[in-house]
Amino acid sequence: MAFASALKCRECGREYPTDPLNVCEFCFGPLEVVYDYEAISRVVSRERILNGPLTMWRYQDLLPVDGDNAVDLQTGFTPLMKAPNLGRMLGLDHLYIKNDAVNPTNSFKDRVVSVASTKALEYEFKTLACASTGNLAGSVAAHAARAGMTAYIFIPADLEKGKVIGAAIYGPTVVAINGSYDDVNRLCSELADTYPWAFVNINMRPYYAEGSKTLGYEVAEQLGWQAPAHCIVPSASGSMFTKIWKGFKEFEDLELIPKVHTHMHMTQAAGCAPIAEAYEAGVTRVRPVKPDTVAKSLAIGNPADGYYSLKTIQESDGDATIVPEEEVVTGIQMLAETEGIFTETAGGVVISGLKRLVERGAIKRDEVTVAYITGNGLKTLEAVEHTVKPVTIDPTTASFEAEVLSA
Ligand SMILES: *Cc1c(COP(=O)(O)O)cnc(C)c1O
Ligand SMILES: [Zn+2]
Repeated sequence: MAFASALKCRECGREYPTDPLNVCEFCFGPLEVVYDYEAISRVVSRERILNGPLTMWRYQDLLPVDGDNAVDLQTGFTPLMKAPNLGRMLGLDHLYIKNDAVNPTNSFKDRVVSVASTKALEYEFKTLACASTGNLAGSVAAHAARAGMTAYIFIPADLEKGKVIGAAIYGPTVVAINGSYDDVNRLCSELADTYPWAFVNINMRPYYAEGSKTLGYEVAEQLGWQAPAHCIVPSASGSMFTKIWKGFKEFEDLELIPKVHTHMHMTQAAGCAPIAEAYEAGVTRVRPVKPDTVAKSLAIGNPADGYYSLKTIQESDGDATIVPEEEVVTGIQMLAETEGIFTETAGGVVISGLKRLVERGAIKRDEVTVAYITGNGLKTLEAVEHTVKPVTIDPTTASFEAEVLSA
């Protein structure tokens, strides 16, 4: 049973039934799921969660769908790893990596798509669709396959091969568009008005977004039922950033964890940093940009949750960091070489952003810090292939000694 009671406009507060809607008819504000927290507090407990499955569905009381019928690829409950080597390099004694790259389609997007596809089935949609910066494509295609739904995947034509093939393999119709993600999204918004399809991040968006809360719940549970002092999060639309914070606050309100003092830090790459630029300029209006970044999974020039992300930064006393383009690959290398985790470009943005935060004194050595690694490096090989050069030799000891040992 789900405890979602309504949808509510984040701007004017008007309420709607829990239908496939995403904008307010009166003010065009975005809609958000409302829960009956009193009913939730009567059932939820640490014990109930601990007895749940070792997936994100252990938190089903706080998700807006019936978890017993979830489209479930066993997403979530990913490792929270202590990162002593990277911590030593950066000057942090309690650094953790939340490794969400190990989800079924190798990114955190499985969390949001698992919720959105479950909701789409509840509404009896036959077709699942999305506008994707890359990782969403593979996740939507996989969940549609699992659920027996038809899938349409819309992507910018310049995506990395690993993401295109990693989506196409599940058998969806993949449509590559000559344009940026923002063009893709605009087209999909039109199509969502025309075709009876569940676009996970358009008409399903209020439900979709809730899936990211589990990234907050899990980290709090894995830290022994407490929120960390700092979170470092990569942002595109800004949705995940706001929902990790919402997850901590819900746990606090339900008295599952003590009072939350987490500082939420957002990182974006210089070639597409509209939210971080607004933060630095001290304004609340996010000015859209034209993305030109190696971090393609974060390349949203007109972020839907930009304004709400700035509010999360303010409420949590966090900040936003812009990572120069040339430091994205450096961040990928740092994490791989110190902790044995190969992340995609978004993870490079996180690690280089974390380094900058420590250098400017925003994070102290003894504070518990969690860096969110949201995608797998095998999907963005193009970004790093120029940095690695294997040695080729003849199959002889002489060649090995000459070319390798004496080189
Ligand atoms: C989509 C994505 C993000 C950002 O998600 P938003 O909720 O749109 O900010 C971060 N990391 C990776 C790897 C992604 O694919
Ligand atoms: Zn409204």
